Amino acid sequence: MIASSGAGHPAAGRVIAHVDMDAFFAAVEVRERPELAGKPVIVGGRRDSRRGVVATCSYEARRYGVRSAMPIRRAVELCPQGIFLEPRHHLYRQVSDRILEVLHTFSPLVEPVSIDEAYLDVTADRARFESLEALGRAIKTAIHAAERLTASVGIAPNKFLAKLATTLSKPNGLMVVEPSGVDRLLLPLAVDHLPGVGPRTAARLREMGIHRVADVRARPRSYLAERLGRFGETLYELAMGIDPRPVQPPQPARSLSAEQTYEEDITAPEQVRARLAELAAEVGRRLRAEGFWARTVVLKARYPDFVTLTRRVTLREPTADDALLFETAYALWRQLPPRPGGFRLLGVGAESLTRFSQPLLWEAPERSARQAQVDRLVDAINTRYDRVVVGRGRIFKAVARRSPGKTRDDAGG
Ligand SMILES: [Mg+2]
Repeated sequence: MIASSGAGHPAAGRVIAHVDMDAFFAAVEVRERPELAGKPVIVGGRRDSRRGVVATCSYEARRYGVRSAMPIRRAVELCPQGIFLEPRHHLYRQVSDRILEVLHTFSPLVEPVSIDEAYLDVTADRARFESLEALGRAIKTAIHAAERLTASVGIAPNKFLAKLATTLSKPNGLMVVEPSGVDRLLLPLAVDHLPGVGPRTAARLREMGIHRVADVRARPRSYLAERLGRFGETLYELAMGIDPRPVQPPQPARSLSAEQTYEEDITAPEQVRARLAELAAEVGRRLRAEGFWARTVVLKARYPDFVTLTRRVTLREPTADDALLFETAYALWRQLPPRPGGFRLLGVGAESLTRFSQPLLWEAPERSARQAQVDRLVDAINTRYDRVVVGRGRIFKAVARRSPGKTRDDAGG
């Protein structure tokens, strides 16, 4: 219902809430052990931890300069009186699940983005409240009543602005950005507040005389695109307060697979490589056609005696990339126990699928953006021929070398 609403226009009528728990892990620990209240609590590892990293710290610890992702050793230097705790992820997950239940009482469209953060599309639900402030307060109150924890809430016409509002209001904050207030909020901000603008990009922008969002807005879109490529376009849209990404509740579990039974058993490892490359390319094509990323890759192998083994591995990041699917499946194949004979069937599968987000550059490092582009191009060609005639470089080589009988004239993309 909201998939295409708001396309491009910050004032197209959507109302998005972003909810972010304050110092979540540390706050849960303090709730469980009230004697820690008001103390610099640092969750991530014991103080003698050599490899530990700060997962979350209380606001009291932040005053000493302790930050998330900092090595525990450094945190000990900055804040020797800190209380250092091992994380209890199981507990945090339970609390997080209960908070999501609370959020679902405000809207059916809830998209968790991490254990302590979620977006809600409340466009249809705002009518139950006399104002957006009242809605935001109700969310905070409901969370606190259920879990005795504080959350910060941002409410705005899109995800980017809602998260910005949360960030600016933290901790225990509430900020509502009406469409008419977008420019007043956005224009004076330093460019660092725009997603995707890290220290390096910020330095580059400063060299171009761009310090604040207003400076981005003052440049023509083409000027930014020429200098920063596609990110320049994204930057321009952000500076305009535009973010078309819809709130997407998690999809029910789905999977995709491609398998093939061979007339003659496959024996040579390089033949296996070639077959797996084809199957992975097919799975990748279907993932992208249906708009999914896979987090788990599955290999299926059937021996001449019909013994069938499946192996799966979960990737660090979800992917729809042919080369990664292939390499993962091939690595799984190499780990199969040695058995006599070849294979009568091979299959590659994709599980734990998640929907593509709107492809904005700040979510995709440049390399994957380029790869995705190549994949789309290859898909366009293969869809026309309705079979795999073009593979990506690496895979194509594997396929071409092993199957000289097939037409590969179009390859090269
Ligand atoms: Mg948080």
